[in-house]
Amino acid sequence: MKIIKSISEFRAHFNVQTNIALVPTMGNLHAGHLQLINRAKQYSDIVVASVFVNPLQFLPHEDYNTYPRTLDSDCEKLAKLGCTAVFAPNANEMYKNIGEDFLQTKIVPPTQIADILEGEFRPGFFTGVATVVLKLFNIINPTYAVFGKKDFQQLMVIENMVASLNLPINIIREEIIREDDGLAMSSRNLYLSTSERKLSVELSQTLKLSAQKIGKLSFCEIENDAIKILNAKGWIVDYISIRRQNDLQTPLPNDKNLIILGAAKIGKTRLIDNLEID
Ligand code: AMP
Repeated sequence: MKIIKSISEFRAHFNVQTNIALVPTMGNLHAGHLQLINRAKQYSDIVVASVFVNPLQFLPHEDYNTYPRTLDSDCEKLAKLGCTAVFAPNANEMYKNIGEDFLQTKIVPPTQIADILEGEFRPGFFTGVATVVLKLFNIINPTYAVFGKKDFQQLMVIENMVASLNLPINIIREEIIREDDGLAMSSRNLYLSTSERKLSVELSQTLKLSAQKIGKLSFCEIENDAIKILNAKGWIVDYISIRRQNDLQTPLPNDKNLIILGAAKIGKTRLIDNLEID
């Protein structure tokens, strides 16, 4: 497996005609990421994973500096799975003008998708995500790109960008991979202390419980109940929200194909999760 750190080397190594299936990640790979690699292998023999902790998508108070960086063990896992190459640039390679933020052209996704839910609590997050993903698409030139439903809103932002900007890339959605107790796998789970790890399952449990109440209570009542339950257990809730799957807007009472999304902090760790309700 080739490990490539520079844009020019990547371009020199891969012919523009190559049918690449790309899996963008921030590294510290877990079974959720590896599932995306396996999915990518179904689409192409040439699978590229990118490992890049993108400074543009972190707010100043967030964990950019402490985000786990484990490139060596990530590469071992990817090589074992038969990945063709890893693209792992540093921030300077991706943003030549880092520190002069205003010189970077940015992709600003539509307000209706990007300024709600995660975007409300992490202003500018989706601009950072869309910008880096478009840069990766331009460098790697994939035919397919695989993203996890764990970050459902991010997936929709990217699908919207691809459709809006007529990018010739097929976006593949992969299911959420969970721990045995139901906690959605995440690189940030390693921030959890042993006691927090035990409690962390309450987020997915609460989403499940809320889903069971649909049709019996109003959406608003279900959301408020869920927030109360989590608050009572010591969580700080950013949002628990029932939305339409197709556009993430607030549903009408009879709407079908819903999704319940949640973001909450246990201790210092902010976790997100969602559950599709068909
Ligand atoms: P990240 O490294 O957290 O930026 O995630 C890279 C990709 O992996 C994104 O498409 C995520 O949605 C996906 N991903 C992260 N965690 C999971 C999970 N538990 N199950 C499925 N996909 C995931």
